[in-house]
Amino acid sequence: MQKAFKVTLIPNHNQEVLINKSIGCARFVYNHFLALKQEFYQAEQKTLTYNACSQKLTLLKKEIGWLKDVDKFALQNSLKNLEAAYKNFFADLKKVKGKKSVGFPKFKKKHISKQSYKTNLTNKNIQVTENRLKLPKLGWVKFYKSQDITGHVVNVTVTRTSSGKYIASILCKAEIEKYPQVTQSIGLDLGIKSYLVTSNNETVDNPKYYRTQKRKLGKAHKELSRSVKGSNNRVKAKIKLARTYQRITNLRDDFLHKLSTRLIKENSIICIEDLRVANMVKNHKLALSISDASWSKFVTMLEYKANWHDRILQKVDTFYPSSQTCKCCGFINPLVKDLKLREWSCPICGNYNLRDLNASLNILSEGLRILTAKSGGINTAGVSPAAKRLFKTAAVGAPDALNACGELVRPGVIQARIVEAGIA
Ligand SMILES: [Zn+2]
Repeated sequence: MQKAFKVTLIPNHNQEVLINKSIGCARFVYNHFLALKQEFYQAEQKTLTYNACSQKLTLLKKEIGWLKDVDKFALQNSLKNLEAAYKNFFADLKKVKGKKSVGFPKFKKKHISKQSYKTNLTNKNIQVTENRLKLPKLGWVKFYKSQDITGHVVNVTVTRTSSGKYIASILCKAEIEKYPQVTQSIGLDLGIKSYLVTSNNETVDNPKYYRTQKRKLGKAHKELSRSVKGSNNRVKAKIKLARTYQRITNLRDDFLHKLSTRLIKENSIICIEDLRVANMVKNHKLALSISDASWSKFVTMLEYKANWHDRILQKVDTFYPSSQTCKCCGFINPLVKDLKLREWSCPICGNYNLRDLNASLNILSEGLRILTAKSGGINTAGVSPAAKRLFKTAAVGAPDALNACGELVRPGVIQARIVEAGIA
C-alpha cells in the first residue's frame, strides 16, 4: 500500500534558493520541450518521442550550465509529465464531444502553474530521519515533525505553496500496522450543533474554524482589495490571505484526522448516515456550517482507515428517519422533523429521547441490521471475509442497541399502540 506523508520543510537560505531553482528548471525543461515538440510536428508531421527528448535533454545540459545545478530527476520527471500531458490529450481526442476534459498541453507560467518538482529514489539519494529529509543536491533539510514516516520511500514531490511555504510529499510503500482487534460497534450522528454524537453518548464539539477565523479572513481580504495592483504590499497581502486559508485547512484536517483515527482504533463497526452533502449545501442557511464541518472529508478518512485496519464502515440510507424514530419502541414521531426540537418524550412508550443520542443509537441498530442481512446470505457481495469474521464477533453486542428500554417490541404492537393513542 502506498501512502503519502506531507511535511513542511524548513530549508536554510541556500536550500530555499536551490528548491526555487529546481522548480524553475523543471518548468523550463517542460516548456522547452513542449515548444520543440510543436516545431518538430509542424516541420515533419511527426511526434518527438520521449526517448528522443531524453537524449536531447542530455545535450541541452551540456549547453546550458545551470541545468546541471539542480536534481536530474526533477528534469526527467518534467519530461515524463509532458509525455503524460500529451497522452491524456490524445486519449481525450477519442472521446465523444461534450465529454472532453483535457486540452492541448499548455506552457507553464511562473505564477499560475503548480510550483513543484518531483524526485525519485535511487541508491539512498533520499533518506528520512526523525526530523530531517535528505534530498538530491539539497542535502539534509529539516522539517516539522507531525507524524511518523514509515515504509520505503518511492519518490518525493517538493511544492512551494501560494503562501510561500515548502511542502514535501513523501510517497512511501508501507505495510500498514493494523490496530488490535476490538469488538465495540458505534453509531455516529453527524450534526451542526455538535460535530457528532455517538451512541455511547459522547458529544464531540464542532470546532467551526471558518467562523472563528472569520475576522482574520475578512481583514486579509480587505487588505488585499485595498492594495495597489503590482505593488509589494499586494504580494504581501496575497501571501497573508493564503496563509490564513491554509491555517484553517490545517486546523480542520488535524481535527478530522485525530477524530477518525480514534474512532477507528476503538471500534470494529462504525455506522453513519450516508449524507448527501452536495444537496445539503444548496440550503444556504446551513451551507457555511456544513462546508465548515467538512463531513465528506471526514467520511473519506473513516473509509480508508477502516480499509487499512479491517474495520467496517456501514452507511445508513439518508432517508432512514434516524432522528424521528423512538429508539425504544420504533414509533416515528413526525414532530421531530423540526430541527429545533432537541429532546422529546415518546407518546407511545413514554421514553425520553435526546435528539442526537437517539439518532446515533438508531443509526447503529439500522447499520447492524443491514450488516446482519448481508451476512445472512441476502447480500454478501460487498463484505470481505475478514470483515465478515469481524462482524460475527461484534454483532454479539447488537441487541443492546436494538431494545434500549429492555423489551422487544414487535411492529404490530407498535401499530396497535399508535391507534390507541389516536395518533395514526
Ligand atoms: Zn417510544
